[in-house]
Amino acid sequence: MSAESGSGLAMSFCRDTLGSEVVQMFVGPEKQLFQVHKTLLCSASEFFKRAFNGDFVEAFINQMDLPEDKPEVFAMFVAWLYSNGKLVFDLESCGAFSGVDELIQLYVFADGKCCNALKNSTMDMLRAGLAQSILHLDEKHIQYIFANTYSTAEAPIRRFCVAWITYGMPKRWIDVEDVMELFKSSPDILMEYLSFQAEYPVPEIHYENPEISRMGRLYKPCFFHVHKVDEICTAGSQGNSWAMSD
Ligand SMILES: [Zn+2]
Repeated sequence: MSAESGSGLAMSFCRDTLGSEVVQMFVGPEKQLFQVHKTLLCSASEFFKRAFNGDFVEAFINQMDLPEDKPEVFAMFVAWLYSNGKLVFDLESCGAFSGVDELIQLYVFADGKCCNALKNSTMDMLRAGLAQSILHLDEKHIQYIFANTYSTAEAPIRRFCVAWITYGMPKRWIDVEDVMELFKSSPDILMEYLSFQAEYPVPEIHYENPEISRMGRLYKPCFFHVHKVDEICTAGSQGNSWAMSD
């Protein structure tokens, strides 16, 4: 989806609330241009809000370079912006591993741009794909997540990874040897794993019923979300009943 088509869509039904101010975003080393409504962009991300409303040069010229980000990831972000917070992602046609690649890159982008709602939507989509065995999380994904996020408070996907390891070992989703390699490669992963064991002992019911829908019933969606103080979670309002508890 191009930014231009997203802008056109938004203009057709949100002209009054979006305003007319559009910022130009040049993304990736090739400087691919995306045009995005400034109000929408700033309402979704503290990072962009600060950049376009402070004393930064971006605020004066309404332009920003994002050379480190990938255009295809930014395009997913723009699609999400113009879809009223609904993540546009086709689980049916993505690859088991490449689908996870796309989602975790989007999550890392959202984390870097202080966009909690997108992180939560991406987390929910990842869990949905895993619960339906459409997606497959492997150790390389976990390494990428830990190398590109910085705290569990801001990026609870780190907690999700170690929960996945905890439940994955007895079910053979992941080998013990691979887990050991993960711990050797990153002390942060080991620390997160140990913290998870200390705080959230595995419920006995897991062992009584190993087909417990891949952690879906054990942890409600919000367990792996990040919210501002007093922010109301909307998980479950978009067909995520797969993840709700009994
Ligand atoms: Zn939540």
